[in-house]
Amino acid sequence: MPFLQFKNVDFSYPSGEDDYIQALYSVDLTIERGEFVALVGCNGSGKSTFARLSNGLLLPDRGDVCVDGCSTADKSALYEIRKKIGVVFQNPDNQMVTTIVEDDVAFGPENLGLAPAEIRERVDWALDCVGMREYATSGPQRLSGGQKQRVAIAGVLAIRPELMILDEATGMLDPDGRREVMEVVARLNEKENMTVVMITHFMEEAAVADRIVILDKGKVAADGGKELFLTPDVFTSAGLDLPMPVRVSGALKNRGIDIGCPLTVEELVAAYCKRLSGGGGEA
Ligand code: ADP
Ligand code: MG
Repeated sequence: MPFLQFKNVDFSYPSGEDDYIQALYSVDLTIERGEFVALVGCNGSGKSTFARLSNGLLLPDRGDVCVDGCSTADKSALYEIRKKIGVVFQNPDNQMVTTIVEDDVAFGPENLGLAPAEIRERVDWALDCVGMREYATSGPQRLSGGQKQRVAIAGVLAIRPELMILDEATGMLDPDGRREVMEVVARLNEKENMTVVMITHFMEEAAVADRIVILDKGKVAADGGKELFLTPDVFTSAGLDLPMPVRVSGALKNRGIDIGCPLTVEELVAAYCKRLSGGGGEA
């Protein structure tokens, strides 16, 4: 059974008297346990709407959203669904509710009514997962943006969700903060087998995922593995950039130098060096 399933989902927001804005059109999408999916698309393509439908914050106009086999339209399943899907939002400053890091991470488990020893264990584990244990008793004002987002991730982790959706969670961070958050997310997926949906417009982040889903004007325009980067048109026609290494290798290819399709700067450098040191030809 897929963990998260969108079946033919339409969704629109009311706008004015009898008008509406359709945000999603016939979205069919299945996410299995353990996947690391990047959901990309321009502003207004429906990414946040997808996130809100995933945990039943919004309900579809047509079609169905199922989490672990339960429809979000089933009110009696919503509490369990919200425990299974954790969402991290964009603004790190809006996500801390207390003035001490560990209290903040404890907020979710406390609301679940867990015993103090269990809460302590979860808080310590979650802070370890994001590498923030040493800041347990710090106040948020002493933290960088990347550290605050790691605390927000720990707060979600402490609820022990099975799927984590990061809705442009790196959008307000500097490059160092973005890297910190990406490292944490990749580690969670790999080591803790956390299912991850990374909503992002940074293509370098999308290239880290195992699967990329492109939303374009409320529709799924493409869905595939890293091989999607071999067909750049699917990105550019949805108004998206390509990861820098893909642009560089494309430009080299146009000059007759084929180094394949590296997705990270490290891969790009390695592929180019290999080519220079005897890959042959005109390079
Ligand atoms: P994204 O996250 O990809 O930027 P959204 O899911 O936020 O896209 O928005 C999809 C569409 O729905 C856009 O046209 C947007 O203007 C509209 N929309 C989003 N939220 C609301 C809302 N609360 N009320 C009315 N329209 C909305
Ligand atoms: Mg959004």
